[in-house]
Amino acid sequence: MMNGQQYRDSLKQLKPRVYFMGQQIENVVDHPATTPHVNCAAKIYEMAHDPQFEELFTATSHLTGQKINRFTHIHQSTDDLLKKVKMMRAIGQQTASCFQRCVGFDALNAVYQISYELDRAKGTNYHQRFLEYLKMVQDRDLMPSGAMTDPKGDRSLSPSQQADPDLHVHVVARRENGIVVRGAKAQITGSVNSHEHIVMPTVALKEGEEDYAVSFAVPVDAPGVLHIFGRQTNDDRKCAACAIDVGNPEFGIVGGEALIVFEDVFVPWERVFLCGEVDFAYPLVERFATFHRQNYGGCKTGLGDVLIGATSALADIQGTGKAAHVREKIAEMIHLNETLYCCSIACSSQGYKTASGAYYPDPLLANVTKQNVTRFIYEIARLAHDITGGIMATLPSEQDLKDPVLGKYVEKYYKGVADVPTEDRIRLIRLIEAMTCGTALVESMHGAGSPQAMRIMIQRQANLEHKKRLAKKLAGVTSK
Ligand code: SF4
Repeated sequence: MMNGQQYRDSLKQLKPRVYFMGQQIENVVDHPATTPHVNCAAKIYEMAHDPQFEELFTATSHLTGQKINRFTHIHQSTDDLLKKVKMMRAIGQQTASCFQRCVGFDALNAVYQISYELDRAKGTNYHQRFLEYLKMVQDRDLMPSGAMTDPKGDRSLSPSQQADPDLHVHVVARRENGIVVRGAKAQITGSVNSHEHIVMPTVALKEGEEDYAVSFAVPVDAPGVLHIFGRQTNDDRKCAACAIDVGNPEFGIVGGEALIVFEDVFVPWERVFLCGEVDFAYPLVERFATFHRQNYGGCKTGLGDVLIGATSALADIQGTGKAAHVREKIAEMIHLNETLYCCSIACSSQGYKTASGAYYPDPLLANVTKQNVTRFIYEIARLAHDITGGIMATLPSEQDLKDPVLGKYVEKYYKGVADVPTEDRIRLIRLIEAMTCGTALVESMHGAGSPQAMRIMIQRQANLEHKKRLAKKLAGVTSK
């Protein structure tokens, strides 16, 4: 298993094409726009070597019997599913940001299950290919991204109906030794600091759309692959001189998402895990989405622990910590946060064994988990804003605090209780700001799919007819 430094060194061995604000980034480890996200993923590698976290962060490979980082493991029990959630809460508590590696983790588990089921149904040999790929990922402790979301263009049209055929990743040539793919994947978490990309379809497909039914893996620096790194709220605060205003300088906010462009990329057959089987595209989407929605009551509650702590500590510094209404609001934040955790624990404990032998969380409960995240995180943030006060939106800059002339005024007039330095108050406010404004909240809404995507799966999974039968029986209704 790699440690944090080895992960950073391994990224430096790769040569992905990454662009940010019109400039090419030569090295994502040391560039201010990407360093916090590298640090956050590196934390996973570090925690796997900490005896305190070993049980959560490591597992035994069912393929090789070797000790591996849990982020490359295929779930063998509901206990594995539960450990995944607990592990994510633990990392969220240490980073207060998105540590990104879960997306590839979920892609590995989804492709594992679906390639097995596909082979059984159609006599193909995708699963064996995938097992070889998985062994390589486990042995080298790699971080693949999970690239699902296509740009999609006109959402009312299917992939084959779009004016531009490249708005969903598709096969443009089939060769004896592999395929050539074109298109893009949008807002892919951790993609610029991953080693590999695992690509999956993003929507249900129909007959005639075989070229869009494609799943494969490529190295991040494969010829024809390029990345355009997205902007984030306040990202111009990410600079060497900004230790306070950036809020969470070490780990940043959310995952550092990028558009990945595939410009006629060759993929050898041994790295192709779905090619043309349209009826298995949606099952793969659903499997991956459920795995990722399972996570959100883990990672987000870790972040919630930090946010609740920051808000409570700030209230103490502002002299409101003992006020009844503040205590009540903090209690509500805790209640909402723990409710989310309950959801992730529930869908994991109610998980079950699939045909491949690997385990899968309860899909209805996993979708409910993420649906709640789209609401509760906003409410937790609203309460944090309420307690923090308008100062969060009006604070002077770090430069003013450190200015030889202005600093004494900032120090004097932004002080809370007498015995705590003003800078401590400002640091907590900036952390709360980073965790609750702009990009961070949108991630809670749309990460792992929009609320509507969860609604669709909730409707599919809920067995409404069964509920109607229950009611009719008790009410003595005999009509159909
Ligand atoms: Fe992992 Fe949470 Fe980030 Fe998704 S949002 S990649 S589950 S930390």
